Amino acid sequence: MDSLPDLAAIEAMDETDPLRAFRSRFALPSGVIYLDGNSLGAASHEVFAEVRQAAMEEWGNGLIRSWNSAGWFHLPIELGDRIGRLIGAAEGQTVVTDSTSINIYKTLHAALAMRPDRNVIVAEGDSFPTDLYMAEGVASTRPGVTLRLEGRDAETIEELIDDSVAVVLINHVNYKNGELRDMAALTKRIQASGALVIWDLCHSAGALPVDLDGANADFAVGCSYKYLNGGPGAPAFIYAAHRHHQSIVQPLSGWWGHARPFAFERGFDGDAGIRRFLCGTQPILSLRALKGALSIWDDVDMNALRQKSIALSDLFIQLVEARCSQYGVVLDTTRNSEKRGSQVSFTHNNGYEIMQALIERGVIGDFRAPSTLRFGFTPLYVSYRDVWLAASVLEEILSSGSWRDQRFAVRSAVT
Ligand SMILES: *Cc1c(COP(=O)(O)O)cnc(C)c1O
Repeated sequence: MDSLPDLAAIEAMDETDPLRAFRSRFALPSGVIYLDGNSLGAASHEVFAEVRQAAMEEWGNGLIRSWNSAGWFHLPIELGDRIGRLIGAAEGQTVVTDSTSINIYKTLHAALAMRPDRNVIVAEGDSFPTDLYMAEGVASTRPGVTLRLEGRDAETIEELIDDSVAVVLINHVNYKNGELRDMAALTKRIQASGALVIWDLCHSAGALPVDLDGANADFAVGCSYKYLNGGPGAPAFIYAAHRHHQSIVQPLSGWWGHARPFAFERGFDGDAGIRRFLCGTQPILSLRALKGALSIWDDVDMNALRQKSIALSDLFIQLVEARCSQYGVVLDTTRNSEKRGSQVSFTHNNGYEIMQALIERGVIGDFRAPSTLRFGFTPLYVSYRDVWLAASVLEEILSSGSWRDQRFAVRSAVT
């Protein structure tokens, strides 16, 4: 095993980091090492400026005129195209709207309607739960449709695919252990059987280079409040390949998805393009926060981002394994960086208490039941020094047993 780097060597890595200038664009509190940008991304000064402008000027002074004069009406498409650049989607295929859960509902229905002679949805048993909850909800409204799960009905997605499968809903990166799927290969395999694929990019958009068009994906969904830093509850996105636009029918046929919303016609006639995935009036203040967040992404080289993400994650694994393994912390993420997203997970029977003790010391990660300590690495605002300090604090908490204090065992609503 390589010898452990010391703090001086680590500070030298920060000196030569090509992304180091991005950190000052974020409004992080001092004394905090933030390793939870995979759950809620950090706020940036650009976000505050956009929200202030949108609230005080455009709403305050412009009032209803701002739907036109400030471009509010076009924000879902404009921001969709900007996210599209980060996920390998050419213009006109991505729209920002609603939540990921709702977008899963819309895309699953659309895909099932495009494969009327098939009745199976395939998903992952260890998927982020809302994906499965929504799939159950969709199945409950379509007689005969059933759900097949990887890890329950067979070991792999490939084994579950046959000519009864209409659509496969897959996470690009697993939320808990960080496993990264091969999008191009799996898409090809799924489409060869005649099924459609929906990629959930919640843990890959803004975390690593994604190439939806290159992989010939059918649909994708994802949220903008994790790696993209759009703010708590920021609206999510939907991608649908151009070739499908004519065939898409989604059940939430609200007026914003209509071809002519302000004609106030009787009867729904869906927009010919990606707008048909909209339902009702969009949250403009949240969209403007996201616009501020995305202005930072316009300057990011995704390959440099990926390189740093891997280096941060590798360093954390190396330090924690060397210093903390003796206390029962076990790596739950692959060591193979090509098969990993931008997070590292460890398990420990007292993971919850240990994470609370870390947070009290200013090292913010999160806990996922039953025993996962999860750490996200967001290269725009996390330094190598942060990683070194986080591992040191974790070692101190474990070696001193300070996590055993009663107060760390009290469970909050959100973990
Ligand atoms: C975070 C996350 C979601 C969140 O869905 P919301 O509707 O935004 O609450 C869904 N799926 C995955 C895979 C996630 O990681």
